[in-house]
Amino acid sequence: MTADPGEGPHVRKLLGAYVLDALPAAESREVARHLRCCDRCTADYAAVAEAAELLALLRAEDLLE
Ligand SMILES: [Zn+2]
Repeated sequence: MTADPGEGPHVRKLLGAYVLDALPAAESREVARHLRCCDRCTADYAAVAEAAELLALLRAEDLLE
């Protein structure tokens, strides 16, 4: 086991709201700070951001129909 960088807990559960820009500013800053020092959450963030983009595309397509 490696020590976690940064002071806070992992922010994985917040990433969905973070990607959608739905977090309060203070929490959003915490997440951004954590991402800078945590490779694991950064990888999760990339995956969540990609999924959110795909969902947005799907929704856009649904609206067109
Ligand atoms: Zn983390």
